[in-house]
Amino acid sequence: MKSVIVVGAGVWGLSLSLRLAETGWRVTLVEQYAPGHVRQASAGHTRLLRSSHGSDEWYARMAWRAREAWLRLGERAGEELLVESGLMWFAYQEDGWESRSAQVLKNLEIPHGLLEPEKAGRRFPSFRGDDLAFVLWEPKAGVLRAREATLAVARLARAAGVTFVRARAVPYGERTGVVADGEVLTADRVVWACGAWLPGLFDVPMTITRQDTFHFAVPRDWTSPPLPAFCDFDLSAYGHGDIGGAGMKVTSDAEGEPYDPETGSRQVTAAGEELARDYLGRRFPALAGAPVLFSQVCQYALTADAEWIIAEAADGVWLLGGDSGHGFKHAPALAEYVADVVDGLAEPDRRFGLHERVPARGLRTSGSPATRRTPSG
Ligand SMILES: Cc1cc2nc3c(=O)[nH]c(=O)nc-3n(C[C@H](O)[C@H](O)[C@H](O)COP(=O)(O)OP(=O)(O)OC[C@H]3O[C@@H](n4cnc5c(N)ncnc54)[C@H](O)[C@@H]3O)c2cc1C
Repeated sequence: MKSVIVVGAGVWGLSLSLRLAETGWRVTLVEQYAPGHVRQASAGHTRLLRSSHGSDEWYARMAWRAREAWLRLGERAGEELLVESGLMWFAYQEDGWESRSAQVLKNLEIPHGLLEPEKAGRRFPSFRGDDLAFVLWEPKAGVLRAREATLAVARLARAAGVTFVRARAVPYGERTGVVADGEVLTADRVVWACGAWLPGLFDVPMTITRQDTFHFAVPRDWTSPPLPAFCDFDLSAYGHGDIGGAGMKVTSDAEGEPYDPETGSRQVTAAGEELARDYLGRRFPALAGAPVLFSQVCQYALTADAEWIIAEAADGVWLLGGDSGHGFKHAPALAEYVADVVDGLAEPDRRFGLHERVPARGLRTSGSPATRRTPSG
C-alpha cells in the first residue's frame, strides 16, 4: 500500500488526505493544533464560491468542479455546507475584468447573466448602483460555511481511515519523512500543506498578510431568504447576506500588513473597520451606521501573481500552498488534481512552481484599498 504524510489539517490538507485515503493510500495527517482551530485560514466563518476568474479558464473550471464536489460532500456530511445564494460582480466598465470573466463562463457553459444595476439592486433591501455599468450574476455560486465544512471534511477523512497525529512537524532533511514533536515518521511521499506557516519551513515565494473581516447587524427581515453574495473587483471588497445569524459580511480584500499566524493579535483594528464601513455606506446605504456584530482576523498566504504553489521540493516531498486568499472553494477539486500529481500520474502546471513570481492581478480582486482608488476596470 502506498503511504503519504500530509502536514496541515486546514481545508487543503484535509481534502487531499480524504482523496488519497479514498483512492487506496495509507494517510497520516500531522496537525499542530486541532482541525478548525482559530489560527488556520480554513476556520473562517464563511468563504465565497464563485467561478469568475477574469480571463483564466483553469481556475474557473476548477471552481465549477469544486462546487459539485462541495454539494456531494454536504450530502455525505448531512449538512448544508454550501449556501447557494448566487453571487454578483459589480462592474464599472463594459469591457473590464467582469466582461472577460463572462466570456470564460460562456465558453465553459457555466450559468451566468448580465444584469442592469437597477434590476440587480432589487435583490437587496438597500442598494446603490448608479456608479455601475452592469452586474455579472452567477446564480449557482454562493457561500461556504467554512469552519463547518473544514470540520465535516475532517470527520469524513477520519472515517476513510486517515490517521491524525497531533504534533508540530519539521522536515526530515530531504528525505520523505517528517520529525513530528521529535518523533521521525516516514512514508513514500510527504505533502506540506501548511498555509501561512509554509514560509517558516521552506524557501517559498510567499508573503503573509493580516486580514480583518466584519459582519454588520441587519434588520431581521434581511436574514431570510439569503441575500446574494457579492464581489467588487476594482474596489477590493466582498461579502454576503446573513448566514447563521452572524450578520451581513462586508469586508475589504485589500492586502493587510505583514503578519505572523502564530503570534499575531487576533483583534480587529479600527482601520480595518473603516475600510469595510466605507464600502458598506457606498453600496448598502441603509447600513452605513450598522453596528459590527461579528469580526475575525485571518491571514492571506499570498504569492505575487495569486497562483498557487504545487511543487516538489525534494524527491517525493511536495509543497502545497500560496492559496492567495482564494483557495477554500477549490479544495475538493484541487485535492483530485494534487493527488494525481503526488501519485506521479500528472505533472503540475508550470505556473505553480517555485520560480520568482511576476506580480499580477486578476485571480481574486485588485487587492488595493478602495479608498485610495478610483474604479477603472
Ligand atoms: C479573510 C479571508 C477571506 C477569504 N475568503 C475566501 C473566499 O471567499 N473564498 C475562497 O475560496 N477562499 C478564501 N480565503 C482563502 C481560504 O481561507 C484559504 O485558501 C484556505 O483556507 C487555505 O487552507 P489551507 O489548508 O492551505 O491553510 P490553513 O487553513 O491555514 O491550514 C494550514 C494548517 O497547517 C497547520 N500547520 C502549519 N505548520 C504546521 C507544522 N509544522 N506542523 C503541523 N501542522 C502545521 C496549521 O496549524 C493549520 O491548521 C480567504 C482567506 C482569508 C484569510
